Amino acid sequence: MSDDGGAAAPALGPGPAVLAVDVGGTDTKSALVDADGVVRAVVRRPTPRDGDRTGQRVVEEAAAVAAELAERHPDVAPAALGLVVPGVVDDAAGVGVWSENLGWRDMPFAAAATARLGLPVAVGHDVAAAGWAELRCGAAAGFRDALVVTLGTGIAAAVLLDGRPYRGGGMAGEIGHARVADGPGCVCGGRGCLEAVASAAAIARRYTARTGTHVPGAREVLAAVEAGDAPAAAVWDEALDGLALGLSHAVALVAPQVIVLGGGLSHAGDALLVPLGERLDALLTYHRRPLLAPAQLGGDAGVLGAALRARELLTEDHG
Ligand SMILES: [Zn+2]
Repeated sequence: MSDDGGAAAPALGPGPAVLAVDVGGTDTKSALVDADGVVRAVVRRPTPRDGDRTGQRVVEEAAAVAAELAERHPDVAPAALGLVVPGVVDDAAGVGVWSENLGWRDMPFAAAATARLGLPVAVGHDVAAAGWAELRCGAAAGFRDALVVTLGTGIAAAVLLDGRPYRGGGMAGEIGHARVADGPGCVCGGRGCLEAVASAAAIARRYTARTGTHVPGAREVLAAVEAGDAPAAAVWDEALDGLALGLSHAVALVAPQVIVLGGGLSHAGDALLVPLGERLDALLTYHRRPLLAPAQLGGDAGVLGAALRARELLTEDHG
């Protein structure tokens, strides 16, 4: 999905033209989707950071991008805005309840963005929106029960049951903060959380702690595994063990037909999928064995999910 190209993004099909905004911890990606469902333009900008005004600045930036796209594409008039943000989100109220990273508390995104842009606004959670997009037009298309797991700096899952997102009041899918090991301590205050063992950030951090060698990310640890480095292999094995254990519990609970793996760590491909599948096989007995699949929409999943949510707001098909 390149600026003004849209070639790589799947068309969402006919429906209202909408504006979609995916606010990330570093960058914010905005997309203009036309009435054919084609992504006509994508704009990527650094996410504004302004202390406790960050939420308001996000809304102002969305309005600025909307004005810019209206000028560049006068033939596409968006009828709604889909805005997805990280942290804890109350979709129904349109409120960003809390973001540790971006610093807002109880930010009324829907009300503020509606006032600023004069459009109806659907607010959603970034991981949930990405999962919804993978179910509607990505790796989980054709399935009704799915987990879409983001393995990045953190770990979280979108839970999709019977073809619909299950949000649990905005708290469903927090598998990154369920205990899978005896340690180490986690940013949430817990111990041995999946995220503290198996996130991309944790893998890099744990390798550095074990060897004294600084690595910028999990990618370098994986390269060391392939080169036969024993400490790297130990860290990677522990990450896979934790991930398999956490997912096995999720499988026992909701019996997904497919588990889609996205986020930075999923770029490891078969180096992740094959040993993870073997571990899951060893842990599961009579349970429904899920297919493990790499995410298809990559970094576009969030913004496509935002576009889907905006359309659903207009068609009353609430996700
Ligand atoms: Zn935790």
